[in-house]
Amino acid sequence: MNGFVQTGDSVESFRDFNKNKKDQNEPKMKMIRFPVKVLNPEKPVFCPECGAFLKKDGIAHSDVFHLPYGHARTVLDVERQRYECTNPNCRVSFSEEIPFKDPKHKVTKALRTYIEDLLSETVITLKMTSKIAHVHKNIVKESDKERLIKDGSVFFPCSSKYAADQSVSADLCFSCRHYPGASAQ
Ligand SMILES: [Zn+2]
Repeated sequence: MNGFVQTGDSVESFRDFNKNKKDQNEPKMKMIRFPVKVLNPEKPVFCPECGAFLKKDGIAHSDVFHLPYGHARTVLDVERQRYECTNPNCRVSFSEEIPFKDPKHKVTKALRTYIEDLLSETVITLKMTSKIAHVHKNIVKESDKERLIKDGSVFFPCSSKYAADQSVSADLCFSCRHYPGASAQ
């Protein structure tokens, strides 16, 4: 994927995501962390608010989850240049954009596409998608909802994939026991 360059060695760790789960026998999840730097072709020069010159103002770090590597979850530890306005009456400060990040979630655009690909497979449930893509179920739920709205499918209050599969019928949703709401079209 374009847009970043690795700045150091990756670090592997094991995180126990099952601490609060019933099934304590599930294996701990391996996580690989890659330190990366944004390759932004356009470096900001002027303040977006007042037009004065910007100055560099340290480095910020953001975690962005990326495509799974085998059974491991991967996270990009993204180094971002911070900028501050030189105008003493303005003092706007911000970090450089992460062009490869999904605008809504802390995942890469590539991972977001992968989630949507999994969701488009009718045999793969939301829960399975969350497991395969190693992402939190809320991201999967929201991606699914947005996908359905984009498709113009009938919208169920629970936005469950199971319900969406039978979007043509106006039956109660099996998951939330609600009738479908207005079509998102
Ligand atoms: Zn300014």
